[in-house]
Amino acid sequence: MVSYVFPPPPVAALPIKGSDALFPVRRIFCVGRNYAEHAIEMGSDPTREPPFYFTKPADSVVINGADMPYPSVTKSLHHEMELVVAIGRGGRNIATADALSHVWGYCAGLDMTRRDIQNEAKKTGRPWDMGKGFDKSAPMGLLVPAAGVNPAKGKIELKVNGKVTQTSDLSKLIWSVPEVIANLSELVELAPGDLIMTGTPEGVAAVVRGDVLEGIVEGVGEIHTKIT
Ligand code: MN
Repeated sequence: MVSYVFPPPPVAALPIKGSDALFPVRRIFCVGRNYAEHAIEMGSDPTREPPFYFTKPADSVVINGADMPYPSVTKSLHHEMELVVAIGRGGRNIATADALSHVWGYCAGLDMTRRDIQNEAKKTGRPWDMGKGFDKSAPMGLLVPAAGVNPAKGKIELKVNGKVTQTSDLSKLIWSVPEVIANLSELVELAPGDLIMTGTPEGVAAVVRGDVLEGIVEGVGEIHTKIT
């Protein structure tokens, strides 16, 4: 029997709609600039880039409905509304045609970003980690099983204090969900419990303490959090 020098951390996990069981989170991968209009608003050319990735720690998830504390060391906390893919069956070099069979389910999520720190990192050629992978940076909605979800289309929208800030459609993803899974599985061996945040549409903006964020991905579900 293994003994640890102190108790191991609790397993990060997401609630599942209509179930008492939890989805254990292994890793969180995020796709950068995967909607053309968002790439343009970030000053990039959306036509020339293959997908690229950054990560967040598994324990950065915030359960749906829970508050998100405003993080330290930023004056520009941005929202990024995203479709999140939950991997149920791992693999490497997964074929695009087979990719959706590896998906356990989906949820709506927020890739919360310290934009000032990320922008400084871009300028200086440093890693994005502290701009993206900070504590409680990934509020996630309830997971829904993949059956019945079509990740190729559907409205994706975020309201801040009742006002729409981001609205688009999953059909505008530059790299589709199967293409992202196939590409990412060439870089790492995907495993059950991995989450993939698929990128955000245009309209990202700063939030402040007290703001209420309500997002929806049509056919998937909602995400709700308050910045405190
Ligand atoms: Mn993002």
